[in-house]
Amino acid sequence: MAYRSTKPDTWIKTFRNILELEQANGFNDKAVIGGMDAFVRIWADSMTALVSKSASNRHLIRPGYSGMTIEERGEWVAQWRTLLESGQQASPPNENPTPQAKPPRPPAGLKSPVETATKPSRSRAKSSAQPLPTTIDLECPVTSLKTRNKNLAGQLARLDVSTIRDLLYLFPRRYLDYSIKAKIAELSYGQERTVEGQIMEAHEVRRGRFRTEAVLSDDTGNIRITWFGQTYLARTLKPGVRIAVSGKVEAFNNRLGFQSPMHDILKPGQPAVNTGRILPVYPLTDGLKIHTMRGLTKQALEGWLGGIEEYLPPALLARTGLMALPEAIRQAHYPDDLGKWASARRRLAFDELLTLQLSVLARRQRDNQLVEGVPVDAGTDLVDGFIASLPFSLTGAQKQCLEEILADLRRGTPPMNRLLQGEVGSGKTVVVLVALLATIAAGYQGAIMVPTEVLAEQHFQTVTRLLSGLGHTTQVDNLLTASIESLGSPITVGLLTGSTRARPRRKLTGMAAEGSLDLLIGTHALIQEGVELPRLALAVMDEQHRFGVMQRSALRQKSQENPHTLVMSATPIPRTLTLTLYGDLDISTISELPPGRQEIMTRWPTPDRREVVYGFIRKEVQAGRQAFIVYPLIDESDAIEAKAATDEHRRLSHEVFPDLRLGLLHGRMPAKEKDRVMRQFRDGELDILVTTAVVEVGIDVPNATVMLIEGADRFGLSQLHQFRGRVGRGEHQSYCILMSENTSGIAQERLSALQRTQDGFQLAEVDLEMRGPGDFFGTRQSGLPNLRMAQLSDRELLDLARKEANAIIEEDPTLGLEKHAALAGQMARFMERVSAEFS
Ligand code: ADP
Ligand code: MG
Repeated sequence: MAYRSTKPDTWIKTFRNILELEQANGFNDKAVIGGMDAFVRIWADSMTALVSKSASNRHLIRPGYSGMTIEERGEWVAQWRTLLESGQQASPPNENPTPQAKPPRPPAGLKSPVETATKPSRSRAKSSAQPLPTTIDLECPVTSLKTRNKNLAGQLARLDVSTIRDLLYLFPRRYLDYSIKAKIAELSYGQERTVEGQIMEAHEVRRGRFRTEAVLSDDTGNIRITWFGQTYLARTLKPGVRIAVSGKVEAFNNRLGFQSPMHDILKPGQPAVNTGRILPVYPLTDGLKIHTMRGLTKQALEGWLGGIEEYLPPALLARTGLMALPEAIRQAHYPDDLGKWASARRRLAFDELLTLQLSVLARRQRDNQLVEGVPVDAGTDLVDGFIASLPFSLTGAQKQCLEEILADLRRGTPPMNRLLQGEVGSGKTVVVLVALLATIAAGYQGAIMVPTEVLAEQHFQTVTRLLSGLGHTTQVDNLLTASIESLGSPITVGLLTGSTRARPRRKLTGMAAEGSLDLLIGTHALIQEGVELPRLALAVMDEQHRFGVMQRSALRQKSQENPHTLVMSATPIPRTLTLTLYGDLDISTISELPPGRQEIMTRWPTPDRREVVYGFIRKEVQAGRQAFIVYPLIDESDAIEAKAATDEHRRLSHEVFPDLRLGLLHGRMPAKEKDRVMRQFRDGELDILVTTAVVEVGIDVPNATVMLIEGADRFGLSQLHQFRGRVGRGEHQSYCILMSENTSGIAQERLSALQRTQDGFQLAEVDLEMRGPGDFFGTRQSGLPNLRMAQLSDRELLDLARKEANAIIEEDPTLGLEKHAALAGQMARFMERVSAEFS
C-alpha cells in the first residue's frame, strides 16, 4: 500500500485500512510496505497527538511491532482500531466524509469493495465499527452481482454455486499465463505472450466474420491483430493509442498475429487488468462464457473479499507461514505470479486437510469419550485350538494384527474402531474369524457384512471350511452348526442375503433376536429392518470403501451393546490417505503374503495380439488350468455391463472356444445362479469364466492361472491389482494379461506400473498420484469428500495439517474457545458440504 502519497489529514483513513488489512492477513506485518514500524515512524507526530490523551496508550507509538508476538500484534491492532474509532466519533461526520463509508478494504491491489456489498441500511459510522467478518454478507445470492445475464443463477447452480461464498470458492481449473512480456520481434508461433505497443491503424471488416483488424507496433516491429465480432474496437483504437495485448501467437498466411487477444488501453497511472497477468480458466456450463465468469469472480473479489473470515488462529498462521485467507482466495483466482499461486494453493489445501483432520479427530474424541464398550475375553483355549487346527501357520503379520485386535476386544472400552488392511490373499479372513470366535466364546454375537452376495456366500463357505477343522459341522439351508468339544454348546453361523428365502430368513432372524445365533454373515440385508442382534459385540465390515459411515453405524445399532467395529479392506490404501480419511480408526496392516506365493507374470500385449492370447489360454486349459476373462465396464449401468459380458460370452463360446466349457457371471444374475456358476468354476466344471467386475471382491480358485482383463485402461491400478490377485493362489505359475485399445500416455503409464510391481501399497501410491483422490475410490462410493485444492499425495502438507489439528483438539476438544469460534464455523460449513455429498 503506497502510503507516502497520503496527505497528513487523511492518514487516519489510510491507517485504518492498514489495520484492517493487517488483521485480515493474520498480523503478518505485510499490510504496509516496509512493515508497520516504518509507518509508525513516519506518522509518529500525528499519532502522538491522538495517543497522548491517555498515558496508558503510550506503547502504541513505540515502533516495535515487528518484534511482537502474533497475540501482541493482535492486541496492538485492536487497541489502535478502538482508538481511531473513538477519535472518529468525536469529530463531526461531515468533516470526514470518506473513511468509514466503505466496508473493510480487501488486500493490496484490489479496489475497495463496492458499496452494494454492505447492507444499505447500515449507517456509516456503525459500519466501520463492525468487526471485519460481519460487515459483508458472503451468503448473498450470486444474483447480487451485476450482470446482464438473466439465467445466471441457473447456470451457476449447475456448478454448485448459489452464494457469493460459493463463487469465491469456485477455483479455476487452470490458468493462462500471460505474465511473460515480449517484444514483437521476439514472438514465435504458439507462445502465450503479452505485447505492448502503439496502434498503427485499425479498421472494421464487415464481410465474412465481422471483425476489427489492427496493426500494433513496438520498437522492434509490427504485428497484425484480429478481434472477431468486436467491430466497435476499430473506433476506440485510433492510431497512436498505446495498448497491451495478451494472447496466443498464431500464424495467418505465414505471418504471426494475435486472434481476439485480451487487451488493455494503457494510460499513465492505471494498471492493466486484462493483460500481462495470469488469467483464470473456470469450469463453465452451457451459456456461461469465460469472460462472464471472470467478470463475476472479479466483482466478487472486489466487493466481498473483505467478508472472508480468517479462521485460523493468528499463532497458527505465524507458525506455519501460511498465506492469509483473503489473500489466498484472491491469488487463487488471479495469481500475481506462480509463486503466489503456489502459496495460495498451499493455504487453501491446508484448510481442507485441517478441517478434514479436525472432523475425524472430533469424531474419534466423541466415540472414545461417551461410549462404554464390551470387554471380550474368552481365554486362549478356543483361539489357540482353532489356530492349531488350521492347515497352515499364521504369518508374523497375521499374528501381530490378531494381537492388536484381541487386545482391543479385551480392553472393552472404548470400543474397537479398527481398520484391518492387507493385500488380496494376505489372509485377513482367518484373522477376522479368530476374533469372531473369541467373541462367540465369550458369549456374544458377531457379524460380517460384505458388499456382494457372492462374497457373502464365499465367506460362509470359508467359515464352514475353517470350522470343520475344529469339530463336526452340519449345514441346513443357510445355517451352519459346528459342534466343538471345548465349548458347551455348538457354534451357529447364519448366511443372510437379499435372496435368502422367507422361511430360512425367519428362522435366522428369530435365532439372531433371541441370541442363539452366534455369527451372522451377509450383505446389506443385515442392516434392514427386522434384523436384531442384541448381543452383537463385534461387527466386521469387508471392503470398507463400499460402505459409508452411515452403514457402519446402522450395523452397530442392531445391538443392545456398543459393539466393536472392524473394517477389512483389501484395497491397499496409501498411508497418507489412511491417516487422513480413517484417522478415527486404528490401523492394523497385514504387510506380508503367506509364504510360497508366486509372482504373477503381467503382460500387456497390443490389441492385434488377441488371437495369440486366446491361443495361450487354450494351452493353459489343456494343461488342466482355468482362466478368467473380465469385461469390466465402469460408469455404466449393471444392465449394460451384463449385456457386454453376455455378448462376449456368446462370441467366445461360439467363435473362439467352442470346444471349451465357458461360464458367465454378472451382477444381474440371480444370486442362486451366480452361486451355481461360481461353484462350477471352483469345482473345475468350467474352464473359462467370463465375468464382470463382480469377480473382483470374491472368488478364491487356486487352479485358475490366467486373468485376462479387457478394457484395462479404464481401471485404476488398485482395481487392476485386485483382479490380478484372483490368480496365483495355487501352486501353478499364473498370468495377468491386460488388453487395452487405448494407448494414451496415462493408460500406458498405469499399465506399465502394474507390470513393474506386485506390491499393492506401492501401486496404490502411484495410483493416487496419477489420478487424485477422487478417482482413487470413486468419490461417491468412498465417503471421501470432494477436495478442491488438496492433493492427498502432498505428504508434507498432510503432516502439517495433522500436527496442527492434533494441537488444536488437544487444547480445545470441542472447539469451544473464543479464538476457535471462527474455525468451528468453518468446520460446520465443511461438514454440511461433506454430508450433502455423502447422502
Ligand atoms: P484375504 O481375505 O486377505 O484376501 P484370505 O483370508 O481369503 O485372504 O486368504 C487367502 C487364502 O490364503 C485362503 O485360502 C487362506 O486359507 C490362505 N491363507 C491364509 N493365511 C495363510 C497362511 N498364513 N499361510 C498359508 N495360507 C494362508
Ligand atoms: Mg478374503
